Amino acid sequence: MPGQQEETLIKKKYAKEIEQVELWEELLRKSIVDEGQLDAICKGNIDKEKLKAVIKKYPMRINPYYLSLVKKKDDAIWKQCIPDVRELDDPKGFEDPLCEERDSPVPGLTHRYPDRVLLLVCNQCAMYCRFCTRKRKVGDPFKRITRAQILRGIEYIKGHPEVRDVLLSGGDPFLLSDSYLEWILKELRSIPHVEIIRIGTRVPCALPHRVTPELCNMLKKYHPLYVNIHFAHPDEITELSESACNMLSDAGILLSSQTVLLRGVNDDPKVMKDLMQKLLKIRVRPYYIYQADMTMGINHFRTKVEKGIEIIEKIQGWTSGLCVPHFVIDSPGGGGKIPILPNFIVSRDDKKIVLRNYSGKTYTYEEHC
Ligand SMILES: *Cc1c(COP(=O)(O)O)cnc(C)c1O
Ligand code: SF4
Repeated sequence: MPGQQEETLIKKKYAKEIEQVELWEELLRKSIVDEGQLDAICKGNIDKEKLKAVIKKYPMRINPYYLSLVKKKDDAIWKQCIPDVRELDDPKGFEDPLCEERDSPVPGLTHRYPDRVLLLVCNQCAMYCRFCTRKRKVGDPFKRITRAQILRGIEYIKGHPEVRDVLLSGGDPFLLSDSYLEWILKELRSIPHVEIIRIGTRVPCALPHRVTPELCNMLKKYHPLYVNIHFAHPDEITELSESACNMLSDAGILLSSQTVLLRGVNDDPKVMKDLMQKLLKIRVRPYYIYQADMTMGINHFRTKVEKGIEIIEKIQGWTSGLCVPHFVIDSPGGGGKIPILPNFIVSRDDKKIVLRNYSGKTYTYEEHC
């Protein structure tokens, strides 16, 4: 496992690429993908056979940039990207806890809410998060998403005028080439009832080099466009991720964030508040904190729901309201996202409502009658 010395080695080894090579594809090619490479980094300190089995079931990909964010073994970055033998030992989890496949009229499209759909356009990511809720399909070369499948999704949207909001996700849509992504955006923009398009991505956090001027110039032709970025820890906010976010913002794209609440990574109100404040500073508006899903293979990441409530309790009122995300549970069985709030109502009747503020003082509001 990398100690102080090895860390410095990792950084030295990749420093040149990280600073000089702009080609994100090249960085991606240099990702660590098998147990042999992992063993080399960890100096032979891993159970190679067991990790091989983990990686076979749930692919590993750690690009040199994301790996360079690791400061020491088992830190918040490490836990997100390095496979763990516990992933195979999770009898309680579900492959598809949110029943995305069940609510899927055509493959790769989930229509769960009245006016918006989720369309999966790519099953690759810049880094495979060990806690991914779509562990069942990301990174699997046999589950690649074809052009024909995306076209079926687009045809479905054309035939459903109630769909005014399309969320592109995956995997990570920004792992597609500019021209392929542009084809999808152009098709969607040609549908009159599609009002907004959203892209869910981890690229500005996990491989900011991918956010190029060319990508931003292409994206800005398809406004109104929103980009929702997955960040999990303040250490992921670097000069590079900041400049990637700036480029997107400067292209007129509104940025928001989503964060999964993860044991040992960010299950600490101080860490979360720091993250939310840092996000605002780089013009990313905190949107959701998710309770970890009941996904097979991620049990060791799950926290008590109480932890999420405590986090909101320590942010709401204590810092800028813009920093306060919604804490949600994406309901198992496919009921969608349900917001969970600390209880600010002390009592309520026809005449008045008694409330407590963030610091615990109570106040009474009398109803109009
Ligand atoms: C999260 C999600 C959406 C979007 O939800 P918002 O609350 O509007 O951000 C849409 N469809 C599916 C299936 C989702 O999981
Ligand atoms: S970036 Fe998103 S889709 Fe990709 S592995 Fe991480 S959580 Fe899953």
